[in-house]
Amino acid sequence: MSEPLEPARGRRAFFQQTLALATAFGATAACSRRTAGEKVGAEALPATEPPKQTVAAASGPRVGFAVVGLGKFATEQILPAFAACTRAKLVGLVSGTPDKAKRIAEQYGVEAKNVYDYKSFDRIRDNAAIDVVYVILPNSLHAEYSERGARAGKHVLCEKPMAITAKECEGMIRASKTAGKKLMIGYRAQFEPNNLRAIELVKRGEIGKVKTIIADHGRILRPEEPSDSWRAKRALAGGGSLMDIGIYSLQAARYITGEEPLEVSARTFSTPGDPRFAEIEETVAFSLAFPSGVLANCTSSYGHAEGKRYRVFGDKGYLDLDPATAYEGNVLRASKGGKPAELIEVPHGNQFAAEMDHLAECIQSGKEPKTPGEEGLRDVRIMEAIYAAAREHRPVRLGGDTQHG
Ligand code: NAD
Repeated sequence: MSEPLEPARGRRAFFQQTLALATAFGATAACSRRTAGEKVGAEALPATEPPKQTVAAASGPRVGFAVVGLGKFATEQILPAFAACTRAKLVGLVSGTPDKAKRIAEQYGVEAKNVYDYKSFDRIRDNAAIDVVYVILPNSLHAEYSERGARAGKHVLCEKPMAITAKECEGMIRASKTAGKKLMIGYRAQFEPNNLRAIELVKRGEIGKVKTIIADHGRILRPEEPSDSWRAKRALAGGGSLMDIGIYSLQAARYITGEEPLEVSARTFSTPGDPRFAEIEETVAFSLAFPSGVLANCTSSYGHAEGKRYRVFGDKGYLDLDPATAYEGNVLRASKGGKPAELIEVPHGNQFAAEMDHLAECIQSGKEPKTPGEEGLRDVRIMEAIYAAAREHRPVRLGGDTQHG
């Protein structure tokens, strides 16, 4: 923990009941395929509108990105997404595997002089074509490569979780500020059209006053696969399902409410004797209490079949996103007045391209990114509090605040 956290007092009894709420609200409502805009019960759903463009199309010079780490996420999602970018372009690669780097450089037309390994990484400072380093390494390496990137005079886009401790996050923020460069965390869901639409509907009061949120993210951890082998190691991953996918449940609760939690309570469970969970936790259930009174019940697990969903209950209806945070095919439904949930059709948008273009636009126009280092730090602090609450079997107080912007 980077800061001492006081045990909760006043709201404790109320808050301790919140894990039970998740069960009560867990049932999935029946839903039809009617288009948004049609009547739902007594009230109409808002008409479908294109999601807010996070980035205006641009035809001028593009911002050059170097991708650091050519693993599963980088090669399967990020590199292909550059094709959909209007402001960001792929110009560099950093990899410890020369053959792979060469093959990928040829595939994406990256010049050989813009390909680095982890030893030569700092020489990137002399490469004017590279404006941004995008760190897509195991979690425990985020801080080192983000700071080295900033010291090399580059803007940094860093994957989630920002780092494995709040102290590391603070060092990353300092390094970017000292260098006068931007630091953004890769919270793709904050650029995903269904999630943006959900935020907008909540803000507009379409489901009334928000009361509770449930958010669940799970999948089976398979350490026999290269991209999961480091996830089972505490030194590389920093933690288990919470750090990796529970962060999406936490993020959803924060961006839907637009608030910072006042208090967390939590429990963890790891199947005894399962070697996958010798170093990291399998499952976490955590509850967040927000200043407005919203209670969020969240889970993450490496032990159950894939699921990534959340539901927001208001006093006039609810929003359901299932899946909520998939790479493709997220589905948003809304229910009003106790009627079955209806599909809200949201035009497709490439969340990875939107995220990279957003940073490019911020660099070009001198704006602060929507998901800066401070946003990543807030999550890491809350996750540290979640682990403390679980470890110490007590609720943990946090600052609580309203988000800016
Ligand atoms: P991965 O294992 O497939 O990729 C990691 C890369 O880092 C590999 O190319 C590996 O060779 C390299 N590496 C360099 N030094 C290493 C070391 N000491 N030990 C292990 N690997 C080393 O993992 P991934 O699934 O691509 O995840 C990478 C990062 O991206 C993680 O921080 C993860 O949280 C994040 N991620 C984000 C999303 C998202 O949707 N935003 C999705 C998946 C992963």
